[in-house]
Amino acid sequence: MTRRAIVAANWKMNGNLTLVNDMVTGFSDISLAENVDVVICPSFPYLSEFSRAVEAKQLPSNVYLGSQNVSEQQSGAFTGEVSTSMLKEFSVSYVIVGHSERRSLYKETSTLVAHKVKAALEAGVTPILCIGESESERATEQTETVLASQLQPVIDEVGIEAFANLVVAYEPVWAIGTGKTASSEMAQETHQFIRQFLAQSNEEVAAKVPLLYGGSVNATNSEELFAQADIDGGLIGGASLKVEQFKAICLAA
Ligand code: PGA
Repeated sequence: MTRRAIVAANWKMNGNLTLVNDMVTGFSDISLAENVDVVICPSFPYLSEFSRAVEAKQLPSNVYLGSQNVSEQQSGAFTGEVSTSMLKEFSVSYVIVGHSERRSLYKETSTLVAHKVKAALEAGVTPILCIGESESERATEQTETVLASQLQPVIDEVGIEAFANLVVAYEPVWAIGTGKTASSEMAQETHQFIRQFLAQSNEEVAAKVPLLYGGSVNATNSEELFAQADIDGGLIGGASLKVEQFKAICLAA
């Protein structure tokens, strides 16, 4: 089974217009492998500047724009929220949903995450569904139970067939921004579990879902991680804020 590789940049609440322009310049002449897609997810205010670069074809056709969040609502009195249709006006093709920071700091439940996945899919925006266990959950051998409890509400909401149109990012919470990456063996083992879990509902779909690894990925460890059988790329935080380092990670995919 050959799946496309995806390397996504999650800028979180970092970056500025200078970084947007540096990223556009840095990626304008990158020679990505044919089966690799790059997704850049800046904060909302920077989408329009990136969108201009996408529209003007200043970026290779396999460099896409993503957002870091979206509302589960379509429109209306939801102060501070951003809808899928607004994102689509700015060339947004992907959206990160259920990042652990949103789950822990903004109390997003797996049910809300499932609604967001549904809203994105209905609008034709590809969700990057983030799941992952905390350090204590891994220490007490609850990793598989936690991952299953984050995946099942989404399967129940959109149906397993819809997973053919989404991306799953496994991000162990203890590895995010800590410099502690899961070893490639541990990451592969968990990715294999995720694929097998999805396969219980639909084997064909499970074989197709791109599974990204996230958590302290950098230019040094990316190649080994991406070489694992069930790791189809990465979701990159800190290292995506440095143009040359992020390019090196994209070229490792
Ligand atoms: P990190 O973040 O690469 O800085 O660990 C990854 C993420 O939170 O998506």
